Amino acid sequence: MAVVTRFAPSPTGMLHVGGVRTALFSWLHARRMGGKFILRVEDTDRERSTDEAVRVILEGMRWLGLNHDEGPYFQTQRFDRYREVIQRMLAEGTAYRCYCTKQELDEMREQQIARKQKPRYTGVCRDRTEPRAGVDPVIRFRNPLEGTVVVEDLVHGPVTFQNAELDDLIIARSDGTPTYNFSVVVDDMDMGITHVIRGDDHLNNTPRQINMLRALGHTPPVYAHVPMILGPDGAKLSKRHGAVSVLQYQEEGYLPDALLNYLVRLGWSHGDQELFTREEMIALFDIHDVNKAASAFNPEKLLWLNQQHMMRMSPAELVPHLQYQLQRLGLASDNTALLEGIILAQRERVKTMKEMAQNSRFFFVDDVPIDPKAAAKHLSAEGAPFLQDARDRLAALPDWKAQPIHDALHALATEKTVGLGKIVQPIRVAVSGGTVSPPIDVTLELLGSERTLARIDAALKRV
Ligand code: GLU
Repeated sequence: MAVVTRFAPSPTGMLHVGGVRTALFSWLHARRMGGKFILRVEDTDRERSTDEAVRVILEGMRWLGLNHDEGPYFQTQRFDRYREVIQRMLAEGTAYRCYCTKQELDEMREQQIARKQKPRYTGVCRDRTEPRAGVDPVIRFRNPLEGTVVVEDLVHGPVTFQNAELDDLIIARSDGTPTYNFSVVVDDMDMGITHVIRGDDHLNNTPRQINMLRALGHTPPVYAHVPMILGPDGAKLSKRHGAVSVLQYQEEGYLPDALLNYLVRLGWSHGDQELFTREEMIALFDIHDVNKAASAFNPEKLLWLNQQHMMRMSPAELVPHLQYQLQRLGLASDNTALLEGIILAQRERVKTMKEMAQNSRFFFVDDVPIDPKAAAKHLSAEGAPFLQDARDRLAALPDWKAQPIHDALHALATEKTVGLGKIVQPIRVAVSGGTVSPPIDVTLELLGSERTLARIDAALKRV
């Protein structure tokens, strides 16, 4: 049977790395098995769902390249279907109307607590045949009273639940709207989901969902409940730990492949390999190998992986990421040769694409502010004759390429018997505004002769 997985986020909070890891595992399993990956937005909680959270899910998945084959489906657009299934269950007797009032339920609860019993719905309406005037009923699932449900979980192994512990769950509220566990069941059935891969905070919902699927005559899917991601303090990763919207990683200059590589290693490994391309992840990932211990989020490792991916990807692949960051700085360029050159020159010295863009500003603007400290140190009257000499030699170069630039500057330093820094740093400050840039020869080649000479001239004027 062809594999069908889904990612089913609730748009009640911003999609963050925890959700992305679940999405990744579902997507990888589908891709590895040549199956189908469905995106489904579980937005039935209308009060807590927001359009912004939906936007982050859709854009985040697109940015990550976790492409779906079907969807996005929205549960709020499927209410008619849920009502239809509820009618069917009422007709078949696997669900019933419950007329208990809130007050009655509260009393039931208090008595059970007084008797030191676990509070649960006792099932008084199971066999009620007469409606109660003035009460809008809820609809409950008729859960089996006896026996066990075994969740054959791919991560946790078999987990057994006693039916006696599961009470009759409400599947529709008195206003007719379906509840969360019920809509998941109808969707997983209708969408032909074969593998439910989700956070292990849902493990306790699973026996109820299995019972409902069986009541509907449907064979339940295979489940894999993946462990939570923890913050450095050992608590479930949350906003408190800076678990921010996935799009913030884009803004901060992370590469989607690096983020996915980081997340795939939380709970899964392949020998001691740390670096994975997308293709390698697809080829090697096996949901059966995910372990059930929770793992902690480590921002330093993510940063390290980001640079590793920057170093390994081709400059052409990185161009759109640099362009995005430049745009955020109000800069734009579609000069691919320049962008690729900058990537090659900068990537060893930065950890994110954002940092690369920030450090590359001077390639794109002409009014480069000169750092006063750098000017005081390197653009002095005493050094001006060297800068003038360097300018003249550069101006005389027939071929504006890194190698001749390099040779000319070295020759000058040798002739004047000064360290190379004395020649190079003033140029660097003049063209880039500061004392840190890629090697000067590469920098000047990328900048071009006209801009280089104009900036040196401007610097000479201020000394
Ligand atoms: N909507 C649920 C959540 O965001 C996931 C439910 C599921 O995967 O079954 O936690």
